[in-house]
Amino acid sequence: MGCLDWLIIGGGIHGVHLAARLLGEAGVEADRVRIIDPGQQLLERWRHCTETTGMTHLRSPSVHHLDLNPWSLQLRAGQQGDRDSGIFAAPNDRPALDFFNDHCDEVIEIFGLAELHVRARALACTIEGERVHVELSNGAQLTSQKVVLALGSSDQPEWPAWAPRNQARIHHVFSEGFDGWPQDPESVGVVGGGISAAQVALRLLDEGHQVHMVARHALREHQFDSDKGWLGPKYMTGFSAEKDVNRRRSIITQARHRGSVPPEVNRPLMTAIKTGALRWHEGGVEALDVQADRVVIDLVSGESIEVERVLLATGFATLRPGGELVDGLITSASLACAQCGYPIVDESLSWHPRVFVSGPLAELELGPTSRNIHGARRAGDRIVKVASADLVARATRAS
Ligand SMILES: Cc1cc2nc3c(=O)[nH]c(=O)nc-3n(C[C@H](O)[C@H](O)[C@H](O)COP(=O)(O)OP(=O)(O)OC[C@H]3O[C@@H](n4cnc5c(N)ncnc54)[C@H](O)[C@@H]3O)c2cc1C
Repeated sequence: MGCLDWLIIGGGIHGVHLAARLLGEAGVEADRVRIIDPGQQLLERWRHCTETTGMTHLRSPSVHHLDLNPWSLQLRAGQQGDRDSGIFAAPNDRPALDFFNDHCDEVIEIFGLAELHVRARALACTIEGERVHVELSNGAQLTSQKVVLALGSSDQPEWPAWAPRNQARIHHVFSEGFDGWPQDPESVGVVGGGISAAQVALRLLDEGHQVHMVARHALREHQFDSDKGWLGPKYMTGFSAEKDVNRRRSIITQARHRGSVPPEVNRPLMTAIKTGALRWHEGGVEALDVQADRVVIDLVSGESIEVERVLLATGFATLRPGGELVDGLITSASLACAQCGYPIVDESLSWHPRVFVSGPLAELELGPTSRNIHGARRAGDRIVKVASADLVARATRAS
């Protein structure tokens, strides 16, 4: 394979959408694009994490998906005559997870993205003149004119310091290869106070387990994980006008409703708590005492809860994604970072003329929704402009 135009590192929601946009909108040729991801299939981590929670519908509205046309999901539903069969849930026409996933498969199929998927992990990137060399875990090396870091944060589940690792009775629901779901009826402690913890607790109850939910804070009800004003100019105009990236970080932290639950999940949860079906414990965990046949969860309040299994649903760590790959790139290419360690990029999401970012790494430019599907679409808008300008420049040089 010669030098590519675009190499996307990460085949999750962001990487797949960006690839579709480069091919379908900017007009980059398919054989000039690759997506590197260690999964057997594209979107593997997305599917794994969402399936585990038992969520039936997305939290985001139907215009947030991976295809080019924002109305694509609605059009698909209309074509199937499925508009009224529970495919979308109120409020905001949130798509059913299965329907959304089938639509993702369709996007992958239409743009032939599975053929562009290189099953490997990117270990290191080196920029040499007009090229970026990327070393892969399978021993190969790819060279591209530009790379996009679409790494997401699903590789770094938040594992609290008090939770011992490598214990058969303690699992993180978002860890890679998670196989800790109870098969027979058990007593399970679910730790976490956000939407995923709530969905996991409800799924366990539904499957006949005895569930204790342990959260540091009372349930916080919010429809989205940040106010919907962040989806457009209402709040983004002020955010973009703020030139101090450290101040931008504070704005993002304040704007994000971390550990929040939308009303449609909060309602069944409250009912389960009120009827005594689910035991609710509010307070920090001090320690987990793992015994042969149980785990004792000691809370800071002095309360102790005995369960057969603990499922951590504590989300993902907030530290900058990318580990050594990104650390090495920052050092070798002298890339700028804010105090929080995240990239300082320009409006086109360029961290370096050859290196672009999406998802959490683009947060200081795209704001609180950068990690979400909406953020992937906004990143697509910016990266398509760069790719289109490159193609025009190449055509001009050739003529
Ligand atoms: C349970 C759940 C439900 C969610 N629901 C919604 C929702 O309804 N609406 C919404 O807008 N958002 C939702 N989100 C948030 C967000 O949209 C998802 O987390 C989404 O998966 C993020 O996509 P991503 O591509 O950035 O990251 P990921 O899904 O994490 O994908 C990144 C990929 O990059 C790979 N990767 C990492 N490092 C390397 C490397 N060095 N080399 C090669 N590959 C690498 C990873 O293995 C992974 O496959 C949800 C998140 C979760 C966890």
